[in-house]
Amino acid sequence: MDRNYKKLSSHGSINIPVAMRREMGLQGGDPMEVSMKDGIVTVTPYTPRCLFCETAEGVHRFMGKGICESCAKAVMEKISREG
Ligand SMILES: [Zn+2]
Repeated sequence: MDRNYKKLSSHGSINIPVAMRREMGLQGGDPMEVSMKDGIVTVTPYTPRCLFCETAEGVHRFMGKGICESCAKAVMEKISREG
């Protein structure tokens, strides 16, 4: 797990580091879900984007990341071609 220490702004905002945004395929304006349990705040993309093509259509979560059906199919075809 990557850890970063950030200060909360006077408005209650916090920045997600650019490396994490890139890895998650997040863009400015994306809706996020904020939840709290046992004193731990969790921020999760409300609508996941495909890690590869950045679409928000038909995206499935896989191992904590988003992948669209067309990219998943392309990955499966590439893997089966390479044996
Ligand atoms: Zn995709």
